[in-house]
Amino acid sequence: MAVPSMSLLFRQHLEQELEVEEEEEERQPGEAEQTCMACDAPLIYTEEVFKLVVEYPLFNGRETLHLDFQHDEGVYEGDFYYEPLFFEFSCWENATESLRKMLEDAPPVKHSTELFACSFCESSICDLEIYGAAYIGELHVSPRMPNGEPTDTFVTIAKPDYICLGCLLLLDGEEIDLWDEELNQVGECQECSHIRCWRYGDGRCPCPCHTEEEE
Ligand SMILES: [Zn+2]
Ligand SMILES: [Zn+2]
Ligand SMILES: [Zn+2]
Ligand SMILES: [Zn+2]
Repeated sequence: MAVPSMSLLFRQHLEQELEVEEEEEERQPGEAEQTCMACDAPLIYTEEVFKLVVEYPLFNGRETLHLDFQHDEGVYEGDFYYEPLFFEFSCWENATESLRKMLEDAPPVKHSTELFACSFCESSICDLEIYGAAYIGELHVSPRMPNGEPTDTFVTIAKPDYICLGCLLLLDGEEIDLWDEELNQVGECQECSHIRCWRYGDGRCPCPCHTEEEE
């Protein structure tokens, strides 16, 4: 299985610089480029915010690496990529509070090959399974000004919370909208994502989502 170029991933981790988007509205002093995904409010430099990115673990025989997920880097087929999303502190807290309520009576989905567990539902996250990593940190003005306009740099000092695919699907559309791109592991439906049917081998899951032709 092809693995993304380590130097590329390493560079992405180091830089964490965000692409500049063309904006029509003038930004006020202190406002970052990024807006809150939940309420659209402009984020403020140096206030605590959350950055949500899609990652996957790669166990290299000694340790678990947490790598940026990018479909077109060759780990999975397809060409979509989940852009990092940003949230105000309170908006992310509200969203994850609702998630915790939804999870109250839900038992975790465990597996013997777990590398680490979801911070919210305790379900297993296994090798190469996508998950969300929610980093708390601050946006700062980047010293780089490609268009003469300030750009954002995200700085974090803490380990992220890990959010399994099942929890990402619960979170999406309830309090907040996540990516336009569909969230799944191997093109399966949401029910299959929740039971992680791919863990049990190709052709073992009776769900029609694996055989139905795409429109
Ligand atoms: Zn907000
Ligand atoms: Zn979870
Ligand atoms: Zn299915
Ligand atoms: Zn399935």
